[in-house]
Amino acid sequence: MAELTFRTGTMDAGKSTLALQTNHNHAARGRAGRLFTSHDRAGEAIVSSRLGLRADALEVSPDFDFWRFTVDALTQGARIDYLICDEAQFYTPEQIDQLAKVVDELQIDVFCFGILTDFRTRLFPGSARLVELADRTEVLQVEALCWCGKRATHNARTENGVMVTEGEVIVVGDVDDADAPAPAAVDDEVEVAYEVLCRQHHRRGLTAARARAVSLSPDPLPFA
Ligand SMILES: [Zn+2]
Repeated sequence: MAELTFRTGTMDAGKSTLALQTNHNHAARGRAGRLFTSHDRAGEAIVSSRLGLRADALEVSPDFDFWRFTVDALTQGARIDYLICDEAQFYTPEQIDQLAKVVDELQIDVFCFGILTDFRTRLFPGSARLVELADRTEVLQVEALCWCGKRATHNARTENGVMVTEGEVIVVGDVDDADAPAPAAVDDEVEVAYEVLCRQHHRRGLTAARARAVSLSPDPLPFA
């Protein structure tokens, strides 16, 4: 039986690495697949991982139709055994419905990878639909850590080094090295980056850079 699976985790959890590994494993068994992504860090139509692996993919725009694409390919004689769908949080709920239909009606395995919640801690619409429809949802066991050492469960967005909780849901940026100094702004350009945090430090807006600044500030004199 074909299945719709959703593997999720924070930004640093290694989802794209696993997407590429899953593709490799199935291809090595002689199965034919198609690779999809949306807004990857490396640019259009590429699945790239933090570890340096990358592969060509099909870019999923909001009007892309998975059902139409798959039926057309099969009608033209192509063989498709599975679909790998990276950055699935950016897909529309309608596209997730199409993927479920591909699984049920065409018996094609669909492996989705994506982030569950955005920088405001709200579910991405695509991820919400996947949680509703997937045969299996797994939280990845490669766990990212907050600067405090606790498990990082939330994605923070920073603009010029300052954490923000409002703005456009989709702004592409990479997870910066938390120990590196915040990048300087170029003219009016806002430097957007992401950092994974535990819930407590996300709630308090305490990124690694801010925690370091706070710890370096002189203590108030006890008798002042
Ligand atoms: Zn923390």
